[in-house]
Amino acid sequence: MSNLNKNFSPVIIVGCGPAGIASAIQLKRSNIDFKIICRRFGGNANNANKIENLLGFPEGISGKNFVVLLKKHFETLLIHFTQDIIQSISKENEDDQFHIKCENGEFYSKFLIIASGTNPKKLRLNGETKLWRRNLLDYEISNFTYKKNIKKIAIIGSGDAAYDYALNLVKYPVKIDIIQRTAESKSLSLLQKRVRVNSNITVIKEMKLLSLKEDNNKIRIKVIRRSKEEIRNYDFMFVAVGRSPNIKFLSAELQKLYKKSINLSHLFFIGDIKNKSHRQISIAMGDGVKCAMEIVSNINDK
Ligand SMILES: Cc1cc2nc3c(=O)[nH]c(=O)nc-3n(C[C@H](O)[C@H](O)[C@H](O)COP(=O)(O)OP(=O)(O)OC[C@H]3O[C@@H](n4cnc5c(N)ncnc54)[C@H](O)[C@@H]3O)c2cc1C
Repeated sequence: MSNLNKNFSPVIIVGCGPAGIASAIQLKRSNIDFKIICRRFGGNANNANKIENLLGFPEGISGKNFVVLLKKHFETLLIHFTQDIIQSISKENEDDQFHIKCENGEFYSKFLIIASGTNPKKLRLNGETKLWRRNLLDYEISNFTYKKNIKKIAIIGSGDAAYDYALNLVKYPVKIDIIQRTAESKSLSLLQKRVRVNSNITVIKEMKLLSLKEDNNKIRIKVIRRSKEEIRNYDFMFVAVGRSPNIKFLSAELQKLYKKSINLSHLFFIGDIKNKSHRQISIAMGDGVKCAMEIVSNINDK
């Protein structure tokens, strides 16, 4: 693939979450030509109820409004993103380029920034996918549309996302149960405190989900708590039981580099995909700016 081909960009950024967006803005400032591709603009920031740890937002900002500002920033700088789903990424050894295959096209680059974030983990219970397809269960609150018949929601999980989802849902006239297997919550104590004082949210500890199924357009779950089984019914369910790095589209060779945490001079893993338990917007944005600056130095030093 020649560098003159219209599908070639010196730099390709995978992902328009905070990490990818920050690297795009930094590259633009240095007048470096790049392409940024993603499935969803804003990434996981779309799921945040209220972001309170970002400099410059003393009152906090909702994830949705933050993403609106990110989009405005792109528009102001005339940065365009390509909306597509990446299917595979590999390295073409003969000309040392990365090959990015999407649903609607193929692209090549010299530098590659992978900022594809994380995917939500599943419960891996029978019937889970069916409930998701029937729009009775989801993993991302940003996909949720409130309907009047939804009165009772279960959230499975005990971490920040589960508590954040519950606090996000209290704007609707619904009762929310946070169901967690453990006796202790893994969430920030600040979020736990807010949940505790909200009469529409109940935290049920030491409850294990055994099975789930659809029953007349509702969810019927079987749970066990302190050796006692019971059946519970809900109108909707969120599963927030953790997230794992989104690397499934990488070739075996690139996955190996990812697992060894190797950033090459032409390949960068940035943001949540590599930040393990330190998954925060500011860290992702810092990663984005840093790797863009390294690419600029690399190009200008030639
Ligand atoms: C409920 C919740 C609340 C949060 N609250 C806060 C908070 O208050 N403060 C804070 O700092 N952080 C918060 N976070 C964390 C924050 O959202 C993440 O740290 C941040 O979004 C990570 O940015 P990223 O760019 O690395 O990845 P992501 O935001 O996950 O972006 C990944 C990008 O890659 C794209 N992508 C992935 N796979 C493909 C594919 N195959 N093809 C095309 N595109 C693809 C996605 O569409 C997306 O654009 C919260 C997260 C959640 C879930």
